[in-house]
Amino acid sequence: MNPQSPASLPADAPWIVMKFGGTSVATLSRWQNILELVASRRAEGARVLVVVSALTGVTDALKQLCAQGEPGKRSEAAKAIAQRHYDLLDHMQLAMPDTLGERLADLAKLAHEGAAALGELAWQAQVQAHGELMSSALGAAFLSHSGLPTQWLDARDCLAAIALPNQNERTRLLSSMVDTKADPALNARLAALGEVFITQGFIAREAKGRTVLLGRGGSDTSAAYFGALLKAQRVEIWTDVAGMFTANPRQVPGARLLQRLDYEEAQEIASTGAKVLHPRCLSPLREPRVPLLIKDTNRPELDGTVIGPEVRAHAPSVKAISARKGITLVSMESVGMWQQVGFLADVFAHFKQHGLSVDLIGSAETNVTVSLDPTENLLDSDAIAALATDLAKVCRVKVIAPCAAITLVGRGMRSLLHTLSGVLAEFGQLRVHMISQSSNNLNLTFVVDEEVVDTLLPHLHELLIAAGALRTDDSALFGPSWQALYGSGESPAPAAAWWHESQRPRLLEIAAQATPRYVYHLPTVRHQARELKRLAAVDRLHYAVKANTHPAILKALAEEGFGFECVSPGEVKAVMAAVPSSAPLLFTPNFAPREDYAWALSTRSTVSLDSLYPLEHWGELFRGREIVLRVDLGRGLGHHEKVRTGGSGSKFGLPVEQIDAFLRLADTHGVIVRGLHAHLGSGILDDAHWGEVYAQLASLAERIGSVSFLDIGGGLGVPSHPGEAPLDIAELDRVLREVKAAYPQYQLWMEPGRYLVADAGVLLARVTQQKGKGTLRYLGLDTGMNSLIRPALYDAWHEIVNLSRLDEPATALYQVVGPICESGDVLGTDRRLPEAREGDVMLIAQAGAYGKVMSSHYNLRDEADEVVIE
Ligand code: ASP
Ligand code: MG
Repeated sequence: MNPQSPASLPADAPWIVMKFGGTSVATLSRWQNILELVASRRAEGARVLVVVSALTGVTDALKQLCAQGEPGKRSEAAKAIAQRHYDLLDHMQLAMPDTLGERLADLAKLAHEGAAALGELAWQAQVQAHGELMSSALGAAFLSHSGLPTQWLDARDCLAAIALPNQNERTRLLSSMVDTKADPALNARLAALGEVFITQGFIAREAKGRTVLLGRGGSDTSAAYFGALLKAQRVEIWTDVAGMFTANPRQVPGARLLQRLDYEEAQEIASTGAKVLHPRCLSPLREPRVPLLIKDTNRPELDGTVIGPEVRAHAPSVKAISARKGITLVSMESVGMWQQVGFLADVFAHFKQHGLSVDLIGSAETNVTVSLDPTENLLDSDAIAALATDLAKVCRVKVIAPCAAITLVGRGMRSLLHTLSGVLAEFGQLRVHMISQSSNNLNLTFVVDEEVVDTLLPHLHELLIAAGALRTDDSALFGPSWQALYGSGESPAPAAAWWHESQRPRLLEIAAQATPRYVYHLPTVRHQARELKRLAAVDRLHYAVKANTHPAILKALAEEGFGFECVSPGEVKAVMAAVPSSAPLLFTPNFAPREDYAWALSTRSTVSLDSLYPLEHWGELFRGREIVLRVDLGRGLGHHEKVRTGGSGSKFGLPVEQIDAFLRLADTHGVIVRGLHAHLGSGILDDAHWGEVYAQLASLAERIGSVSFLDIGGGLGVPSHPGEAPLDIAELDRVLREVKAAYPQYQLWMEPGRYLVADAGVLLARVTQQKGKGTLRYLGLDTGMNSLIRPALYDAWHEIVNLSRLDEPATALYQVVGPICESGDVLGTDRRLPEAREGDVMLIAQAGAYGKVMSSHYNLRDEADEVVIE
């Protein structure tokens, strides 16, 4: 390639700083990418400063060289390192440039002589600095040779290390910091020299003239220092991934790209575990408000992450969950000295003296526990042992390691706490050493044993999405998943195909006739029914009619071979009117009056009981009948407290301890318990759960004797948030077959509702008005909680789409509300949608289950009618 060189730049042309990490500079093809990228920035009319790391692995090799006692071994190591650079030069078909030749000679000399002359730490710094000195020299030669004149700059002439009072010799030389007041002199000096520069990351010079390092991974920080000194237009960090993610993609492949972060949030994510960015590199940019971009060298077309000043135009959300391993806790137990003036000062003085920075602090009556973060500390076991010895003079010390700190990051963490109950429950089952909520309200941290992290993290990430705490629906903030960008397979498809898209013209037509309206798509009902029919272990499937009683849906499911589960005489009648008389019926009421049972017993329904009362008081009614007993296994599950139907807090089911009494009553009245039933709740996406219920029922059934079938209820969840993983039917099948193999004598029944119809239905409504209030924008629709009460009742999440403007960019952030005189009349909060107009047709998704059936005439508004698409 032959980068054109446009007219020379004015003295005040803006600067762009571009940093390339170790893997980005290690091969010829990567350098060709760099050439192209730098040339394109230059073509924007900017001066470009390229900051590079050492070739990948070279810093480590130099550290190993430093650890060698023998001069001969050190020289060998230096030769091997030099060879890496010769090889790359060879590939580039370049002759040895002088700048590189000099560095290689210096390194050979340093290796041969050892630390004696400079002193150990200064020598180490000098040796390790050569990684970047060599890679930048090589890069200058390559870029210039390729037609882009590039000046080699010694970073040590620009970056002056500052001496901080708390530093010891080690941190001063190996983990130093730089003064970053904008430097107009530097700007002018460089502008006079040229337009494209290349320099080293990781190194600076201190007042005595010695070379210092900026800590491992410190090249990012160098780029930030240069960005601040030059007051650059932006700093670009080019690396091997497109940016920061909601979690470490290696642990959580479904982690989403974070497209926009403010400095403080990004700082928290970087400090709490994300490896993409060095935690020190944001603070220099904050004050001069220089934005930082993270980009993928191999995929420059991807948007990446932009980090800049705070913008308050999005939903409060958890932005990331990160984990830091290798955390050491120091627990200090004091008897007697606690509450004495100066105790903490004495304790912390020891940390200072050993150059150890404290991260989290927890305190109790007689105990202070702190964590040491390996990214901020040059932790080695010697330093910790020395600290412990000193601390032992003032208190009893315990060092707990290895631990891991799991951190949720997001601005305004306290306002999100109410969404986190599921996540907190997960920690309830673990040994949590410490919990800390940062004073800046940006993070919530749990310190646990290191070994649990890898399995825990993906699970927590899912829970955060499902709880609506991590608002993956906000497309302005959350980009594609790592899996979608880099994975081999596609990301999990939505459980049901988005039929709304293909049916859009039809839906708009239906809405043009009248709104509000429910629309049901029968092919989706059938699709879901067939999914469940894949469950080979299940002998009989019943549709839980309460979810949606539309006759067309009942008919379609009868055709698919489903039986029907009804909870009232009304439901039984609706089913009998719609389906052939061969379809099995279950009557499963709760606290129903005597006459309901009497009536149901006169039909073909199988009747179930879930308390002692009916047999105690109306025993004659049931004489000689076969019934189902619904038991309460003592715990509930589900997406919201109001849908959990097990446990003593719920009114359903006979408690296990009353089973014997029930059986005695049954005996007295000649009633036979033919089936056992349990149902713990709904919206459950964890496949293991049904296996447990099944096995528990089976072992109860063995005690009873007369039982021939087990009904494990419904509650199969349907994901509602973008990115939430659907229930794995194949896995569920495997779990159920396993139990079946152990208890082949029992038939297995299920009674799903929501799973079959939720995605098959939508609610169509129209935009009425808009209103701005403070920072919020309200979008009014012609129906609300009167048609769909789930958001108000369960905080349920329903995706909302502007069907009239599907192709327009989602730039507005709306609170979507209805016309009912209740503050709770909200269908969706903080929804990223296109700018709407009066009359636009809005689609509220996943409204096929518990939508129309729970609607009301409240405020005497007309009920939505129903339309079926065959
Ligand atoms: N070469 C240094 C290291 O590996 C600095 C960097 O690459 O950012 O730590
Ligand atoms: Mg790095």
